[in-house]
Amino acid sequence: MGLPTCGVYVLVIAMTQPAKVHVGRLGCVLFRQGYHLYVGRARRGLGARLARHLRSDKRLRWHIDYLLAVGTIQEVWVAESAEPPECAWASALSTLPGAAIAMPGFGSSDCRCPGHLVYVPQRPAARDMCRLLPRAAKLLLARAELQHTARASLPPLSASGERTER
Ligand SMILES: [Zn+2]
Repeated sequence: MGLPTCGVYVLVIAMTQPAKVHVGRLGCVLFRQGYHLYVGRARRGLGARLARHLRSDKRLRWHIDYLLAVGTIQEVWVAESAEPPECAWASALSTLPGAAIAMPGFGSSDCRCPGHLVYVPQRPAARDMCRLLPRAAKLLLARAELQHTARASLPPLSASGERTER
């Protein structure tokens, strides 16, 4: 499929073990072992946004950057949309078996919904994703990209205590 320039997307992120991470103003967050479904939206430049998510050499800026430093993107689902249905998607995904909002406010600083990050113990089946996310399609990701992301390492701390870009 051709990638739309704007749209809503879901990152299916695998955590092979739990990890405690300091996420900006949210403070210390424990990400559980299992899967995290992150719902985001790009008003433009969707391709560039997804490429950024898949890259490991970047300054940690958004909430999602901190999670992706310890987790692995396994699937990306995308739908072209002018509306902002991230909240609706997050709410739909939270009906999966065993699902819960992973961290209140994660990725949803701009809205009042419970959060745009949903935790599920098992990887969601494609048929469930299709049912819960109407009009969404799964992107095919190059294996090399996935492996590149798989072992993202944090850049070293500089003398000032801030992480430096490599
Ligand atoms: Zn929301």
